[in-house]
Formats: sequence, structure tokens, C-alpha cells
Amino acid sequence: MDSFYDQGTLVAVLTTQPLDRLLDYRAPEGGCFQGAFVEVPLGPRKVLGVVWGPGKGDFDYAKVRSVIRVLDAVPMRDELRSFLERAGDYTLTPMPAMLRLATRAPGLGEAPSMRRIYRLGEGEPSRLTDARRRVLDVLRDMGGLALTQGELAEAAGVTPSVIKGLAKLGAVREEDAPRDTPFPRLDADYGGKDLAEDQAKAAEALRAGAASGRYGTVLLKGVTGSGKTEVYLEAVAEALRQGRQALVLLPEIALTAEFLTRVEARFGAKPAEWHSGVTVTERRRVWKQVAQGGAQLVVGARSSLFLPFSDLGLIVVDEEHDTSYKQDEGVLYNARDMAVLRASICSAQVVLASATPSLESWANADAGKYTRLDLTSRFGAAVLPEMRSLDMRGEDLPSNRWVSPTLQAAVRARIAKGEQAMLFLNRRGYAPVTICRACGHQIGCPHCDARMVEHRFLQRLVCHQCGETIPKPETCPSCGAEDKLAAVGPGVERLAEEAAALFPEARLAVLSSDLFGSARALKEEIVRIAEGGADIVIGTQLVAKGHNFPLLTLVGVIDADLGLQGSDLRAAERTFQLMRQVAGRAGRAEKPGVALLQTYQPEHPVIRAILSGDEEGFWKAEAEERRAAGMPPYGRLAGVILSSTDVQEVFDLGNAMARQDAALRRVGAQVYGPAPAPIARVRGRHRVRLLVKAPKGVALQPALAEWAGQFRLKGELRMAIDIDPQNFF
Ligand code: ADP
Ligand code: ZN
Repeated sequence: MDSFYDQGTLVAVLTTQPLDRLLDYRAPEGGCFQGAFVEVPLGPRKVLGVVWGPGKGDFDYAKVRSVIRVLDAVPMRDELRSFLERAGDYTLTPMPAMLRLATRAPGLGEAPSMRRIYRLGEGEPSRLTDARRRVLDVLRDMGGLALTQGELAEAAGVTPSVIKGLAKLGAVREEDAPRDTPFPRLDADYGGKDLAEDQAKAAEALRAGAASGRYGTVLLKGVTGSGKTEVYLEAVAEALRQGRQALVLLPEIALTAEFLTRVEARFGAKPAEWHSGVTVTERRRVWKQVAQGGAQLVVGARSSLFLPFSDLGLIVVDEEHDTSYKQDEGVLYNARDMAVLRASICSAQVVLASATPSLESWANADAGKYTRLDLTSRFGAAVLPEMRSLDMRGEDLPSNRWVSPTLQAAVRARIAKGEQAMLFLNRRGYAPVTICRACGHQIGCPHCDARMVEHRFLQRLVCHQCGETIPKPETCPSCGAEDKLAAVGPGVERLAEEAAALFPEARLAVLSSDLFGSARALKEEIVRIAEGGADIVIGTQLVAKGHNFPLLTLVGVIDADLGLQGSDLRAAERTFQLMRQVAGRAGRAEKPGVALLQTYQPEHPVIRAILSGDEEGFWKAEAEERRAAGMPPYGRLAGVILSSTDVQEVFDLGNAMARQDAALRRVGAQVYGPAPAPIARVRGRHRVRLLVKAPKGVALQPALAEWAGQFRLKGELRMAIDIDPQNFF
């Protein structure tokens, strides 16, 4: 049971302000519980905090101020406090930043906000117009349930004044009701599907886990279209039967619409949603209801891991290999790993679902730390697409054209049959480089060491690092030549232009995250495509992520070699995953699919592994290489990025850190660098990186903390430590 602090007792409060310690306050009138959300004075301000434990009392009691008030929210549970502390220790993140992650709902402390609702009243209007009758009919159909004015006006097809008029006559009753209402109950037994044999077996194992009340992690590896979602929804169902909550993490907001529909079909109602596209009031409702147990299932982005669940029993990480689970700014955490940590603290089950798991998860299953369940065939009549390489060395292509004649013919054949084709290119924008034909100058970002990418849709050049945009210049900024600026290389927008010229009769849809003003617009486009509203889909990485396009039978990968360039530790793994994922978009319904990979190096071991489908072979080889090199997951890495506007200052610090490495050497860790980061300047700040490599199983974080703690960050200097870095930029 959580401790209670009587009025006047000293309590230690963690605030969201960037302080390096807890602050003592006196418990307010009426006392407070451990974990209580409170408002405390800090200098002249009032700030949000959580009662973290008993006060230290190393301050003159007379000077200790009092908690201003306890907020109207369920106190933070021990489980979440402990999760925040351990996640903070793991990622070397100060606690105030961890608390900010857990309180991302505005207006937490405000009194419950109210809204006006309408239901059927007693009175009868003397004059019954058509519009009035429609309003009353809608309310009668609701069987006593209430609607907001907006909902009612829309359902009845009337203006709000009609409703107001009826309210005055008493025919409609107006009431105020709290806005933060619980979510509709989900029925675990509402609409389950008949499962295929291997699905049923996997579901049974997941159900047993969810019913155990213990921690456990399962790697659910199933080929694309095998029905992983149907299977893990059975684990969700079991968690609900146990009276516990479930969380499903999706890598992409655009996937939620389809998923919500499936949840509704399975459980009879929609779950709570948590991501950046959710309105402020709805976020607050979700936050509160999750804490009060009024939300049984949350579907969300990685930040939903920090919600105040009252009894979390299951976390599903769908497409667990997806790199977007790693947060690359602010608190650098990997949601997949944090899901496992939180589950181990609250005795919950984790399901990591993927057709192409990360090497980390594969290795954990291999070592017996995770249970592995496999679904090896597609559900129903669907079969896995055939994958073939298309050797570009033998294709006759004019310059500035990217769709080979062979691929063109394949696309035409599909469209002629009324099926869909997809052209995949993992590059946003029109062209990655703008070059001056007169002097050779390439237009770069004024603040970063990066080229500006032309986005013709926006009619601007955009820096993909810092987001800076400039209108496309008429003359070369370097030599002043007119009409000499040329676009070099393809992006999806340029590919779309080529496709429009090649297939003038076809309906094209371009899917790239930057082409849509809102998540909603993107969702609608995805639904439209799924329903057959396009013949050719042209897309970036976005399309590789789990969308279901039943009519799609051909995937053409424009540049299968793209990800193999560069020295990234995970280049092979990423290319393998991405190619197999994108190929998996084809032939998900009855008609079989084909994936054609345009490549200049069909003999490359990774390309061969992708085509052969020998996944276990690929992972074993990749694992062996990493093991031999002592690289993750068989060794540990931490990246340190130093940055400053002053290039000398940042190198000086880097060199000092490389020299004074005793704390690291004590645990057997080594420092590499300093070296200019692959992108050496971002937003006008020079960047230098050090890499720390350590054997697996050593206490790396305390050593890192001790090592980094020796250095004062003066002036403009910043340091970011990235544990288990995923991207090396
Ligand atoms: P995955 O997540 O493995 O790619 P999905 O769960 O999306 O696969 O399933 C692929 C398709 O097959 C979906 O349209 C899904 O509704 C359908 N499906 C899968 N299992 C079943 C089942 N047991 N009964 C009916 N339809 C199913
Ligand atoms: Zn920039």
C-alpha cells in the first residue's frame, strides 16, 4: 500500500523542471499520498510535480514551503515510478525529463471539464417541422443515450438553432456532463475469427501467457499476411478477460485507422488512441481514463508506454523491427526495449510481432530469453510473393529515367488485368541533389552539412536534417549562371512524373509522409487506395509498413541497392527487412504477387539472401559477423554526440573525453573518436562523435555517467549520450 503523508510532513517532490535533485515541501492541508500529482511553488512560479518519497529534511524546516495543492488525478503508482527511474538510469536521462514523458497531457490538474449534451425531453413541440421531427427521431433511436450538439445536428441534418429551439420547448433536454468519460467497454468474446491451425496454436500460447499473470516476452514471427494481428488480438482478449489492460504500439500513425476498425470488429467498440494526431482534450481523457481503469485497450505511438496504466497486463509491439520505435531526439529510448522493461516491472506479457524481426529480438529468442512463435504461411488462399532481381546492367535506360523496360512491361500487364502495381523508392522529394551545370556547385543547407532536397510539390528546396526550406533559386547561388540548375537523382515525386509519362492512362497515387497536410488526409488516401482508387501506388518507406492493399500484386523496387551503401552497422539488416516488408505488400489477397528488385549488384550476399527467402540463414550469418566483431547484440555500443557552434571547442572536448577514459577502461569499454559525425553540421552546430564499445554484460551506464560527469559543458557545448544507437548520423 502506498504511504500517506500527513499535513506538514516533509515530502520529496520530483518536478518537471530541469533540476538535478528532488525538492522538499511540506505536505498540504489534508495530507497527500505517495505518487500524488501536486502543484508546488518554485521561485515565483507554480510547477507540476509528483510526491516521490519522504523529504530529506536537510533544510531549515521553517523555510520549507508547502505543496500548493494536490491535483485531481490518480496518484502515480509505484510501478510507473519504478519504471521511470529504471528507464532513466538505462538511457542516462535526468528524472525531470522522464517525468515530462509521463505527463504529456495538458491540464492534468484542472477540474473535470464539462460539455453540453442533449437527450430526449418530456415536452411535445406544438409545431412539428420536418427538421424538428428528424432531431427527435435521432434521439429516440439513441434509446436514452445523449449526444453533443454537433453530433446531433449532423445526425439529424439540421442547424444547431433547431436543437436550441427544441430545448427551449422542453422537447429536448440539455445537460452538462463531464468530458473525460470512460471508453466503451470492449467485449473479449464479441467477434473472434476462426483461426487456421498454426494461428490457433500461437494464439493458445499467447493466451496462456496473458492468463499467467507473470512477465514474459514472445517473439511472434509471421510472414506478411499470416494473420499476426488476428493472433495477437487473442492475447489482448485474454488480458481483458483477466480484467487487465492492454497496449498495442504501432510504428506509424497512418496504420491506426485500419487497426481501429479491426479492433472494433473483434471487440465491438473502439479502443483509446494515443499519438500526436489526437486532440488535446482527447489526450487528457485518455490519460485520466487509463489511470482510472476506464480504458481497457490503448493503441498508440511509442510515448503511450509512459501512460499511467492502472493494471497493464499486455504490451504488443507491432512491426517490432521498425526503426521509428527508437526516439532520436530528446530522450533517446527504444520503445521496444522499454516495453520489455515496463512489462517486467508490472508482471505483464510482451508480444513482439514482425515478419522480419530485429537481430536483437532474433538473438534473444535464439538465446531462450524470449519465446518464439512462428507463422510460416499466409492466411487463406494468399501465397507469399515471388521475388526476383532485375539486373539493371542489362537494361536499356536513358539518363534520368529509373523504371526499366522490364519493370514497365510488368506494370502494364498488371494494370491491364485491373490489378494494382507499386513502385517503391525510399527517398522523399523530387531530387536529392540540385547541381549547377555551369560551375558544378551543389546547393547545400546554410545550417547543415547536407544537400537541399528539391520538393517540387512544395516548390522549394528542403533540408531533411533541420527542415530549413528555401524557394528554388533561378540562378546559381555560386556563379550566378541562369537556367543551369539541374535536378540529379530520383525522389518519389520525380518517379511519379516518370510514371505519369510512361503510363498516361493509369491513375497514380503518391504516398510520402510529407505530401499530406495531416495524418487524417494520409489515412484517407490509404483507405482510398485499398479500395481500388489507384492503379499505381508510388511510395517511400511509408508503404512498407503493414498496410493492406488487397488489389496489389506487383511491387517494383526502384533501387534495391540504396540501403547497402554506407558503413552503417545495420545496413544489411535494414535492407533485408525493408525489401522483404515492401515485397510483402504484394499478393495479400487471392491473387499471387510478384516483387521485382532493380539492382546493379544481383550477386551481393544481401540481395541474394533477400531473394532466396532463407531468413534463418541470413540471420545466422549476420549474427556470426556481429558476434565476431563484438557488435550488438553481442556487445554494447553507446554513441556520444558533442555539438557546439564553435568547432574548436567541440573537438577540444572530444579529445579530452577520449584521453580521460579511466572510468570506461575499468569496465573493459573502449572509446573511439572523436571524429566528425557523418553529418558534421546540423542547424549551425558542429557535431563530433565518440563511440563507446563494451563487452555485453558490463555495467556500462554507471561507467558512462562517471566518465561524462568529469566534464563541464561550458557555454554552447551540448552532449547527448545514445545508449544502443540505431542510427549513426
Ligand atoms: P499480418 O499482420 O501477419 O501481416 P494480418 O493479421 O493483417 O496479417 O492478416 C492478413 C489478412 O488475412 C487480413 O485481411 C486478415 O483479416 C486476414 N485473416 C488473417 N487471419 C484470419 C482468420 N483466421 N480468419 C479470417 N481472416 C483472417
Ligand atoms: Zn539544414
